[in-house]
Amino acid sequence: MSNESPAQKLTTWAAGSDGAWVDLIRSRLGPLLLILSTPPAAILFWIVCTFEPFDGSLLPLLTAKGWRSVAAHFPSPSLAAAEMILVFVVLETALLQWLPGKDFFGPITPSGNRPRYKLNGIAAWLVTHGLFFGCSYGLGLFSAGVVWDRFGPMLITLVVFALVLCLLLYVKGRVWPTCEDRSVSGNFIWDYYWGVELHPELFGINLKQLINCRISMMGWSIIVCSFAAKQGELFGHVSNSMLVSVAITVVYLLKFFWWESGYFTSLDIMHDRFGYYICWGVLAWVPAVYALTAQYLVLRPYDMPAALAAAIFVVGLAAIYVNYAADEQRQRVRETGGNTTVWGRAPDLIHARYTTADASEHESLLLASGWWGLARHFHYVPEIALALAWSIPAGFEHFVPYFYLTFLILLLADRATRDDKRCRNKYGADWDEYCRRVPAKIIPGLY
Ligand code: NDP
Repeated sequence: MSNESPAQKLTTWAAGSDGAWVDLIRSRLGPLLLILSTPPAAILFWIVCTFEPFDGSLLPLLTAKGWRSVAAHFPSPSLAAAEMILVFVVLETALLQWLPGKDFFGPITPSGNRPRYKLNGIAAWLVTHGLFFGCSYGLGLFSAGVVWDRFGPMLITLVVFALVLCLLLYVKGRVWPTCEDRSVSGNFIWDYYWGVELHPELFGINLKQLINCRISMMGWSIIVCSFAAKQGELFGHVSNSMLVSVAITVVYLLKFFWWESGYFTSLDIMHDRFGYYICWGVLAWVPAVYALTAQYLVLRPYDMPAALAAAIFVVGLAAIYVNYAADEQRQRVRETGGNTTVWGRAPDLIHARYTTADASEHESLLLASGWWGLARHFHYVPEIALALAWSIPAGFEHFVPYFYLTFLILLLADRATRDDKRCRNKYGADWDEYCRRVPAKIIPGLY
């Protein structure tokens, strides 16, 4: 950002100034708008999916009746919801700490650190889902649709808790930082929104791994499973549209835990600091918006022709595979120092040099063939395709089940631009060489 010192830029590999107006929008107006608009929007979607006169449509928001319904149904935090969230957080913290798993060291940070992570995501997923369904169907402690029953109070509790947590993280970053990978611009709006620390820890626990992976992504999986169960409880059977949508989502999340080490080399972890954008996003926006198609479907069971359901499921799986294959290719090339094959041939590589804050020089491999030779961010295409596959089962009557898809397209377009800037700042002429060899940003030949 424009108000960071050159030294801070070096410790973040942030992009340079884009001009006064763009900087004003990016560092003050845009963040302020998002901080003010996304918390109520997160709740609004729940009301739209659940209550009259909406019936899953946003149009009643244009009427007084619609807004009276919003006021009447706006949830309050509840003790029961807070208890459920607390139990889940304690469980996931314990599983992360105590289930066996290898240590994984992330990429070198701008300050020269290597954060440590624990790879036991699949085991944690199995235990979490085993406990959830065992306690509901086996022991009868609660109904499997419990998340749907308490979703409003849970969402508002998460929204408020995450807002406060981001403030605590800001204070922690300023007075009690975990390491040197942090920066304070002096612009409170930006520092709250973007965060101060890159890899904050609490009692030795890596907060990004705990909150992004084990609370948010794990929670997303439990939420959609509970939504499917609720449809079964309400209507006596689970429609194939719900089954297909939830199955694609769950396979995608299982892939996420299988590939968790790859996530630690992604932008969320390597670049984005832990403030509102990431922390509030994963704690409140993910449950509210990422599970929206399944949420929409709970009260709208619809059985597609079996062949169509099967075709959508296969397309979803194929998109998950391509997205995984692209991520895996980049990771494997780096791990093997390029001594591997990509699509059956020796990889096309660029040896990209960069410098860390302690002035020491390093080198990374940039892959310019395989999926990474089609476009610099081609893996976003299957990411969008798989989200389309889990949205289509909701039909085309309303926009709400496609809100996540729309949001994702905007998010990934912005992300590709941000990543290009970050990499150009980090690698200089070597990144320019990659752009020369692979000119497309996301869609080969088009964009
Ligand atoms: P990427 O996987 O695109 O990683 C970006 C980093 O990879 C760059 O900063 C650079 O880091 C390195 N890199 C860039 N180009 C190359 C190359 N040619 N060869 C080798 N390394 C390269 O990060 P994302 O976080 O964007 O995506 C990770 C996954 O998460 C993807 O599958 C994506 O689809 C998914 N995703 C999902 C989102 C959602 O909300 N559903 C949102 C965002 C991502 P370095 O400094 O190491 O060189």
